[in-house]
Amino acid sequence: MLQRIVIIGAGFAGMYAALSAARLRHANGVSPKDLEIALVAPEPTLVVRPRLYEPDPETLTAPLGDVLKAVDVLYVQGRVEAIDTNAGSVEAVDPQGQAFALAYDRLVLATGSRLFRPPVPGLAEHGFSVDQLGDAIALDLHLKDLAARPETTARNTVVVAGGGFTGIEVATEMPARLRAVLGEGTQVRVVIVDRGEAIAPDMGPGPRPIIESAMRDLGVETRLGAGVEALDGTRVTLTSGEFIESETVIWAAGMRASPLTEQVAAERDRFGRLIVDPQLRVPGAPSVFAAGDTAQAATDDLGHSSLMSCQHANRLGAVAGYNAAADLLGIPTEPYRQKNYVTCLDLGGAGAVFTRGWDRAVEMTGDKAKATKVEINTKWIYPPAADREAAFAAAEWARLVDY
Ligand SMILES: Cc1cc2nc3c(=O)[nH]c(=O)nc-3n(C[C@H](O)[C@H](O)[C@H](O)COP(=O)(O)OP(=O)(O)OC[C@H]3O[C@@H](n4cnc5c(N)ncnc54)[C@H](O)[C@@H]3O)c2cc1C
Repeated sequence: MLQRIVIIGAGFAGMYAALSAARLRHANGVSPKDLEIALVAPEPTLVVRPRLYEPDPETLTAPLGDVLKAVDVLYVQGRVEAIDTNAGSVEAVDPQGQAFALAYDRLVLATGSRLFRPPVPGLAEHGFSVDQLGDAIALDLHLKDLAARPETTARNTVVVAGGGFTGIEVATEMPARLRAVLGEGTQVRVVIVDRGEAIAPDMGPGPRPIIESAMRDLGVETRLGAGVEALDGTRVTLTSGEFIESETVIWAAGMRASPLTEQVAAERDRFGRLIVDPQLRVPGAPSVFAAGDTAQAATDDLGHSSLMSCQHANRLGAVAGYNAAADLLGIPTEPYRQKNYVTCLDLGGAGAVFTRGWDRAVEMTGDKAKATKVEINTKWIYPPAADREAAFAAAEWARLVDY
């Protein structure tokens, strides 16, 4: 009898879940006619989200159709709207608006995350972001359009709300992006606003002086201990009472797991991620695995957990796909483990900073770290070639090899 694994999402976690499940199926000599692996997503495309702060974001995608075909994974075009864990089925809508249902024996939920936009007056109408492909394209078009506007302080100023990883990467990229649009000699201004008392709170004290020095070199200002209270397209009001003239506000503060996580009756963390067991199964829903930004999993026995990052999404996806297939093939599942953790933060024209370990010991800075960042962002995180052996090798690498 045909059994089916349904994977929802074509991001980093969904891609590796599909490749890893297909590898195990193949390794056990099981035909796709007996165990179908179906990946459901709106497009058969990987959006390279970590690069969305760069110019020309419409180029920052990679096709997945051929690699999925190479490993006999069925791509199903659609957006999933409901999950019925009792019936073991998902309901989706195709691009023509037609609803359809897909039954599953095992489900891997890998629908990622979204930027959380609080109800700040003016944010919905005037705010930009680099969260999803469409957001990054809208920002890019807006920046290009600034050149046609009269030169004012507001035109030449970008405010970035949020001084975490994404806020810093987008802010340090902005001086060069603005000058490329407005002219090299233009006096541009970039300001990061953050409610916290220190920039890059998650990075800790090790890399902070490097980040602060990079921001000084690039002329990126900060307003700490203050939030954005309102914006109207020409002016930003801060909670401190300060006004900043700006036609461009980029929101980069706070992520939430995909709303589909709410459809599985299980405990979720403060970001909305499903808290999964070591096999990445959702407690209380034994046929459901969660991976990537939809899951919170322990990475080791020392109290560390997965973060919303590609690094974790790749491994989580590969392990979830493996376990979903193992379960149906009657072979032992494997616990998720990810001992090593590195970060590589882009600092625009000032290079990058590369850290290793959960205490973020600085290992590389400047041009050397930047070369690593470019390599990660242009090679490592892209899909493997559309070739069965290459795809299976990449899946095993993602599942087992530590950085
Ligand atoms: C600007 C930016 C910079 C970043 N920088 C870094 C970095 O330097 N390093 C790092 O490790 N991480 C970085 N990240 C985080 C990283 O991109 C995410 O952690 C990663 O994309 C998560 O992978 P995922 O597969 O869980 O989700 P995603 O990549 O978000 O993929 C989700 C998939 O699910 C699909 N989907 C969503 N809803 C549905 C639905 N209802 N039905 C069907 N399909 C659906 C989407 O279309 C997509 O295919 C960055 C993110 C951003 C936005």
